[in-house]
Amino acid sequence: MVCTALLSVLLAGTAVNVPASGLEPTSAPMLRAMEYARAPAILSDVEFIASDEMQGRDTPSEGLRITARYLKARMQRLGWQPGAKDGWFQTYELANKRLDTAGTQASLSSTSDNGTRSCTFSFGADLYLSTPFVPNAGTTEGDAVWLGSGVSAAFDAGDWKDRVGFVSEPADAGERQKVFSRARSEGLKALVVVAAAGDDVATRLAARTKRLVAGSPRYVPPSEGGEEGRNQRTNRPSVTNWHMPRASFERACSALGVDSATLGEEARELKLRWNETRVVDATSKVTVENVVGFWPGSDPVLSKETILISAHYDHVGVTDGQVYNGADDNGSGTSGLLALAEVLANHGPLRRSVAMIWVSGEEKGLWGSQAWAAEPWLPGEAKAVANINMDMIGRNAPDDLMVTPTTKLDKHFNGLGLLADQLSPLEGFPKLRSADEYWSRSDHASFAKLGIPVMFLFADVHADYHKPGDDVEKIDADKIRRVVRLVSRIVDAMQGETLLPPVK
Ligand SMILES: [Zn+2]
Repeated sequence: MVCTALLSVLLAGTAVNVPASGLEPTSAPMLRAMEYARAPAILSDVEFIASDEMQGRDTPSEGLRITARYLKARMQRLGWQPGAKDGWFQTYELANKRLDTAGTQASLSSTSDNGTRSCTFSFGADLYLSTPFVPNAGTTEGDAVWLGSGVSAAFDAGDWKDRVGFVSEPADAGERQKVFSRARSEGLKALVVVAAAGDDVATRLAARTKRLVAGSPRYVPPSEGGEEGRNQRTNRPSVTNWHMPRASFERACSALGVDSATLGEEARELKLRWNETRVVDATSKVTVENVVGFWPGSDPVLSKETILISAHYDHVGVTDGQVYNGADDNGSGTSGLLALAEVLANHGPLRRSVAMIWVSGEEKGLWGSQAWAAEPWLPGEAKAVANINMDMIGRNAPDDLMVTPTTKLDKHFNGLGLLADQLSPLEGFPKLRSADEYWSRSDHASFAKLGIPVMFLFADVHADYHKPGDDVEKIDADKIRRVVRLVSRIVDAMQGETLLPPVK
């Protein structure tokens, strides 16, 4: 805190306003307006957005919708105009696949001279899914093989392609993931993870089961043929990853003549046939929103050119009863955008127009930005000419900020990077580090597909990244304030006849 305070005083008190090389200094009206970016106000926005009541802003969720309405109310109050076709919200549809738990089931059967005996496992009693993703509808059958706790030796002991593997659940989550990856690479058709004795699978996987039943909504860009195209692409055989209570497995074994007490670490043919049926309802749709505000430019010609500034306002929701508040990811960028809106409201119109977009579905795979880029509508036939994206700008060292593209990504590098490099020292970021390895990881990647110059500002991941501990208490609001000031300076520098300085 001490360092941060000192830095602010230093910046405010000295007349440093001239960038290192040849660039016009930030204009006096913008410098005055930048004073309206205030750390306490930013922090109170983060506090609301990252409160437990928003339930981690999953896409889709009630908390996300409430956050969208908060953003709209704040923008209305600041005097911005709605920037979407139907007002403040650009809506897009998700196809909601839901698991039909009544129809989804599996069975094990044994065939001998005396005929066929079989045991049925019903979903939600004897059978669970390990992932929150609804599988493709269909049936799978194969011969069952016991693979111990899924250690390499058991997999190495034979060719298990097209089999259905049964394993004792490893205690460690990392090990479980490894077993599943191995099952996939060995070409198994399904993996059944048998829980430890006494493990209450129903309770442990309750949240996951609830999500499977409620649905797993997905966005598919129109360019990929919508949900139908997606189904065609994913209709390849996939490995279903089941969970089964130990008691259910043992009951089946004894009914089918397998002595489960003799099953150890070694691979062993169970001489049983597995048959699974996955029933999925893919007919329902869910609508989600991006929030778009518009600040019209004053120049009759240049106002058709719009600088698009973005941040995602969604996060990853609730898992196992814990709210993932996402104060930094991306309460920081979401609140930073609001602070920037306040700066511009106090500045008045620029020559070019500015649009702010808070996108949803980023955490699920850049859904909201893809949906906007698929139909990039702005008021008055304005066109987006550049994008600045902010994601996670409120943690780590006060003077540490990253940017992409850098000159190393030369086909993407553009004048925004030059402006950022020259102006960032004026806001307490002496040297921007490269975020090139995050080039495809946030929404600027969707906007870059429009063929416009983009830039991503990011202050790196940390120990609380995608953890429940990403809370408001750890947010450096002064850092967000200075990133907002930096973006204000960049936007101010984009008001000349040419949008951006040329890159060599
Ligand atoms: Zn993020």
